[in-house]
Amino acid sequence: GTDPSPLLRVEGLRRAFGGLVAVDGLSFSIRPGEILGLLGPNGSGKTTALNLISGVLAPDAGRVVLEGREVAGLPAHRLSRLGIARTFQLVRVLPGLSLEENVVAGLAFGRDPAWGTEARARAAALLERVGLGGRAAQPASVLTYGDQKRLELARALALSPRLLLLDEWLAGLNPTELRGGIDLIASLRDEGCTVLMVEHVMDAIRALADRCVVMNAGRSIAEGPPAEVLAERAVIQAYLGE
Ligand code: ADP
Repeated sequence: GTDPSPLLRVEGLRRAFGGLVAVDGLSFSIRPGEILGLLGPNGSGKTTALNLISGVLAPDAGRVVLEGREVAGLPAHRLSRLGIARTFQLVRVLPGLSLEENVVAGLAFGRDPAWGTEARARAAALLERVGLGGRAAQPASVLTYGDQKRLELARALALSPRLLLLDEWLAGLNPTELRGGIDLIASLRDEGCTVLMVEHVMDAIRALADRCVVMNAGRSIAEGPPAEVLAERAVIQAYLGE
C-alpha cells in the first residue's frame, strides 16, 4: 500500500511446498485500528499467509514489516512478544486445564507478561471480556465449541497484541454464536484493536472488515472495501473456480 505508516506491511511474500507455490508474491498492508479481511477460495494460500506472518512458517522470499521492523522468518514465540497473536482454524485450547489456567498460560508469553496474582486478575478480566466471566475455575473440556473459540480468543488477547490474526474464527458457529462472535469482534474494533481475519462467512466480512484482500493461487487479485471487492468479476470467477 501507499500508507506511510502501516502497522503491518507484507511485501513480495513467497512460500513454496516442493513445486507448489502456495504464496506467490503477496503484498498488502494494514493500518492501525483496521480490520482487514483475507479472502479467497480454498487452497488460495490464506492460511499459509497467516502462518508466514505469525512465524509458524518461514518465507522463501519477501518482507514482513511490523511497525517498521523487519520480522519475516522470526519464530512464533518472538513474534508473540513483538505483538502478533493468532487463533487457529482448529481450536487449540488446553482441555485438561481450567479456563483461568488457559489464559494465564497465554499471559506469560506476550508483549506485557504477567504472573501470579496479577495474571489471575487479568485472566478474569479477559474471560469477562470474551463472555466467559465467572467461569474461571471450570475445565476447558466442558466448553461448547463456540465457547472454546471464545477461550482461544482470550488467550490471544492475553498476549496484548498489536495485531490479532483470526483464522476462520467464526467458522462452525451456530447462528446465535455467530451473531455473538461478530459483536465481540466489533467490540474489539471499537477498542482500536487491529485485526487480520481469514474468513469465509461473508456476512461477517461485510459487517466487520474495513478492507479486504482477495487471494487466488497465492496472489492478491483484488483489494478494497468488501462491498466493492465482492462485486468484482475476477473475485466472483475465482470463487466459482474460473
Ligand atoms: P487456504 O488457506 O486458502 O485454503 P492454504 O494456505 O491452506 O490455502 O494452502 C495453499 C496451497 O498450499 C494448497 O494447495 C495447499 O494444498 C498447499 N499447502 C499448504 N500447506 C502445505 C504443506 N504444509 N505442505 C504442502 N502443501 C501445502
